[in-house]
Amino acid sequence: MGKPLKFRKLLTSVRQALDGVPEHRRGQNIQYSLTDAGLSAFAVFYMQSPSFLAHQRDMQRQRGRNNVRSLFRVARIPSASQLRNLLDPVDPAELRTPFWEIYTQLEAGGHLGAYTGVGGTRLISLDGSQYFSSQKVHCPNCSVTVREEQPHYAHGVLLAVVGAPEQGAVICLDPEFITPQDGHEKQDCEQQAIKRWIRRNAGRFAPHSVTILTDDLHCHYPLCKLLAQHHLHFILTCKESSHPALYEEVHLLEQVPGAVTTQIVDKQHGRRRERWVYRWVEQVPLRGALKTVMVNWCELTIWDVATGQQSYHCAWATDHPVTAETVPEIVASGRSRWKVENEGFNVLKNQGYHFEHNYGHGQQHLSSVLLTLLLLAFLCHTVLDLTCPTYQAVRRELGARRTFFNDLRALTRYFYFPNWQRLLMFMYQQLDLPPVAPASPGVAAALPVPHAC
Ligand SMILES: [Zn+2]
Repeated sequence: MGKPLKFRKLLTSVRQALDGVPEHRRGQNIQYSLTDAGLSAFAVFYMQSPSFLAHQRDMQRQRGRNNVRSLFRVARIPSASQLRNLLDPVDPAELRTPFWEIYTQLEAGGHLGAYTGVGGTRLISLDGSQYFSSQKVHCPNCSVTVREEQPHYAHGVLLAVVGAPEQGAVICLDPEFITPQDGHEKQDCEQQAIKRWIRRNAGRFAPHSVTILTDDLHCHYPLCKLLAQHHLHFILTCKESSHPALYEEVHLLEQVPGAVTTQIVDKQHGRRRERWVYRWVEQVPLRGALKTVMVNWCELTIWDVATGQQSYHCAWATDHPVTAETVPEIVASGRSRWKVENEGFNVLKNQGYHFEHNYGHGQQHLSSVLLTLLLLAFLCHTVLDLTCPTYQAVRRELGARRTFFNDLRALTRYFYFPNWQRLLMFMYQQLDLPPVAPASPGVAAALPVPHAC
């Protein structure tokens, strides 16, 4: 494993991006900096504690110091309304850089060696999700739909994550927000968001070093053309219901002996004996129109050998050559897309995004800015879990994710810690964990006690 990435360095990336946000206030008494507001929100997400700022304000009043300042380098903690007013006008695009700086650091540190899929390519999943909906609360950047004569307001996001078939964690890249692009009449949609993301980011990767994974919604001619233009491979879920021309061709070829190749592999899955049936065909048209693109098609069906029941089926369109050797790898890569759902969206929905209840929806970008900071906080935890032996040992010992965050919340409410490293080492020491190889010189050398508050 490469050198651990330090929280200090990760925080610096976030801080520098906030420092670079243009000042939108004019002629006011600028008591709180925009950076303090951004880092305060980041701190709430990082600690997964909506009351973190309030508790630290109390600590400051009672003891003259607080953990928001020491752990997150916030000079002054803004109130809820100040935070809202400061962050609402910030364009979330200003906060894209840290995602890529952190990704580059992971890559340079050799931490992404295991993050490869078919043909040694990096697998990037792109998928949309709604992260806010309301019938009352809204802002000009909400998407609006009318159901039963009632307006429904929503915000969606296209999440981009790096994953791999054998890796549990996903690495968050910068998101693309699904917002109305040209005012209220024209609703933006996920289709446009994915194109914007590709145009903006494809150049960051060496040609043909990435495979894009996404769902059936995006398995169409314009996207395949765009991916090819940007030298990106693809494995896209390809359902029969949305690709009649392609499946018509496959069914025709099924009548020709040997035209559709089948490969059967029996596997033991726990107590169950499974039969994995791969089928594939190369160079079929993605759609029936004159202008089309030729793709390779493959599918996997899993049967329970004992009961004869089908337990899984999915099919994909890809530009990777499909052979007996590559088909298991292509299918494993395609199937790893579920991780976006499990690891990524789950975080948005269940892991601490209750900030809006305290800080409101805003009238410009607040909702998107908060979500971006949440994703950055999530990314920082992933990076530490991937690279820092001390963090890994504490998390492993505490078992459930919730226990770890409960402990973080309780400790920082009652104790003052001069920095993140001290906090983590305190947990490590109190859990009586065996020595780990020092993450880097000095990290594990000193086992500090928390400062009495
Ligand atoms: Zn809105």
